[in-house]
Amino acid sequence: MKTIALVAHDAKKADLLKWVSEHAEKLLGNDFYATGTTGKILSEVLPNIKCLKSGPLGGDQQLGALITEGKIDYLIFFWDPMTSQPHDVDVKALLRLSVLYDVPTACNRASAECLIKSISQ
Ligand code: PGA
Repeated sequence: MKTIALVAHDAKKADLLKWVSEHAEKLLGNDFYATGTTGKILSEVLPNIKCLKSGPLGGDQQLGALITEGKIDYLIFFWDPMTSQPHDVDVKALLRLSVLYDVPTACNRASAECLIKSISQ
């Protein structure tokens, strides 16, 4: 069982829900954390998802802290390259920690497709 963190910016939430729904069979059976709003949306497919604070209210930082504690195996973060975010520094910090702690990270559908293959092995 792996622990997977899931985050999507507003313009990408529908894309992430679609991706999770398509891969529900492979994903179920793992543990999940998500930022608040993302988690609420994904809970219809992943009932055991643990929702943190909303991203702009500190959820990205909570995920970063979990990464430093070694509690996250994979990060799937559909961030929005077309919209500036009020919590841009938190987004950057989360991505920095995922690189620093060598957490496999997917930031778009194509990389998530690659990641899911190793998650379900
Ligand atoms: P949200 O946060 O899931 O609460 O919308 C995501 C983010 O913006 O980091």
